[in-house]
Formats: sequence, structure tokens, C-alpha cells
Amino acid sequence: MNKKTPAGLYIHVPFCMQKCRYCDFYSFPKGDEYFEIYKNRVIEAIGFYGKRYARCYNSLYFGGGTPLLLGEKRLCEIMEAAKHFLTSDAEVTAEGNPGAAERIDFRKLRAAGINRLSFGLQSADERELSALGRIHSPKEAAETVKAAQSAGFDNISLDLMLGIPYQTEDSIIKSIDFCNSLGVQHISSYMLKIEEGTPLSKSELRFLCADEEKMADFYLLACSELKKRGFEQYEISNFAKGGKKSFHNLRYWLDDEYIGIGPSAHSFMEGRRFYFDRNIKDFLGKPFDETEREESSGGGWEEYAMLRLRLSEGLDVSELERRFPEISAGEILEKARPFEKPGLLKISGSRISFTPKGFLLSNALTAEILY
Ligand code: SF4
Repeated sequence: MNKKTPAGLYIHVPFCMQKCRYCDFYSFPKGDEYFEIYKNRVIEAIGFYGKRYARCYNSLYFGGGTPLLLGEKRLCEIMEAAKHFLTSDAEVTAEGNPGAAERIDFRKLRAAGINRLSFGLQSADERELSALGRIHSPKEAAETVKAAQSAGFDNISLDLMLGIPYQTEDSIIKSIDFCNSLGVQHISSYMLKIEEGTPLSKSELRFLCADEEKMADFYLLACSELKKRGFEQYEISNFAKGGKKSFHNLRYWLDDEYIGIGPSAHSFMEGRRFYFDRNIKDFLGKPFDETEREESSGGGWEEYAMLRLRLSEGLDVSELERRFPEISAGEILEKARPFEKPGLLKISGSRISFTPKGFLLSNALTAEILY
């Protein structure tokens, strides 16, 4: 095994208790009948890709779906297979539903090596949660976080959503205070996007979601309220206390390598990008290398620059020029300068970083300065 260049490992678990109204991820309700064979197939895939790339992993992320639905026994078995490839300091995250407390033994997960949890809280307001089709209550979420903390988890992330039906500035602050009072280390604050084909996109509730202007106000409010409570923004939607950034997610923005296992999971290894179709039957039944689909090769200067501009630390254009000599750092700096005065970005030496106001216009601003 090549221990010098660790990669990341992502395991997709496409099962949920029930489908949330806004969700476009590859996941489906329950699926209990698949749990055992799915776990076995994931273990096979860990061995297959472990052999193909002979790499160790310094991060593992169980995403979904709702990975905790698999139950601690199956998750521990997957961890047993994965640990042969994990570095001793690997960050190992599992996503879950905040109503998980009664159904999972967090101590067993912690003992198996999972050291970070991420829960989709979305809101601490009952009416907002019900509009999204979430099945937990704020009380259950608090109990779940406390149960995880008592089991030794000191790195917990909560997701918040902006633009939900019925949401107000006051309710956003209430939700942020709720997270803060639970003593979590990380918050991801996403803007709700109404995806075509989801139940939300066909429901009257869509008219109660924030419009563009309100969404911008909500986003800036969330950034400033999180900052007041000590959460440092390190990416468009991610905030951490005490340096507890998501190491695994950072690797996507830093263009580091990772293997993704499971239907819909993407990989970037040795300059090659590929993914599995959104089809559980293919994942379970066909040879892995026959179900991989190629993506563009990636790794070009645009991808490097765009991904770094998502981060608060921004893009060092001298470094960009060093890696891609066809790019002129000076030209990019000149294009960026007019956006400094209106407060959309900051320039410090050769580094360009977007402010929260700039993040709101991220796509347009990135295009303006790179092209
Ligand atoms: S729990 Fe997450 S993955 Fe599952 S349906 Fe809801 S939003 Fe989608």
C-alpha cells in the first residue's frame, strides 16, 4: 500500500426512513430488504478498489441517504473491512437522521472508529420541518446530539437549510441558537434549491419558499449570526468552530483524490473521474469495473480555480500560474480588482477570496475574473 499519498473514501448508503419533499439525492425509503446484501457489496467494493489502487485513506465519509439506518452492526462490519486501508488519524464521518437516538448505539460506532457525525437538522422549527417532510422534531434532534456526545463524539455537524417555507429571519436565528446551544463544532448552511421532479416542486408549498432576494438576505444573516457565535466560515456553505472543518469535504474543493462506492457515487483517482449510475441493482449485480461511467478527465486550471474560489481562503493566483503556466496571474488580479471596492472579494497579495456577499454571486463572479 502506498502510504505517502492517502486518498479519501466515500460510501453512499441510499436508504432513508422516508423521502423528504425537496430531496433529489439517490435514496429511497426503507429498503430494509437490501441492507444486508448492500453491506456485503460495499465490503466487496472496498476490497476491489483497495486492490486496484493500493492506497490508504485518511478520510472516510458515509453519506446518503441515511447511513445510520444500516444499524451499528453493519456499519461496524464495514469499518472492520475499511480499517485495513485507513490511516491511524483518519477522519471518519457518518451522516444520520437527527431522530436516530433510540435506534443506534453511538458507543459502538465510536468504538469502531467513526469519529465524526453529521445530522440533517435543517431547522429547529416544527412547522418548517414538517413543510420539508422531515420526520424528526427539534426535541429528538437535541436528544440525538446529546446521546452522541455522551458516547464520546466531540466532532458533530448539523445541516441547516435556508429558504424553507414559513422561514423568517427570527426563525433562522432561533435555529442557529439551537445548534449553538447543543455545543456542536460544525454547521453546514445550505440554500434550498427546488429540484425539478421533487414533490416540493409540484406542491403549493413551493410558493412559500424564499425568492432570490429573500434568500440573499437569509444567507448573509446566517453568515453573520454564525460568525457572532464563533463559527468560522471556510466555504460557501460551511462553518466550523475550533478548526473542526470537514477534512473529507475539503478534499473535494482542493481537488484531492477519492474513491466513491455505491450507486451515484463519484470518484477521482489518478487523473480519472468516474461514477456509478443511480441504479442499486446494477451496483449489487454487475462487476464494478463494468458499471463505472467515465466523466471528463478533470484536473484542469478552471476546475482548480473554481473549486478554490468556493473556499474562504480563496485562490492564490501565483500558485495557479505556477501550476498552469499558460495562465497569467496578473491578468486575473486586474479583472478581480473592480470587485474589491463593492465588497464582493478581497485581494491580499496574490490571493483572491470572496466575501459572503461575493459567495452569493459566486458563479457570475468566478466567470468575470477567470475569463
Ligand atoms: S434524509 Fe436526506 S437523503 Fe434522505 S430523503 Fe431526506 S434529504 Fe434526502
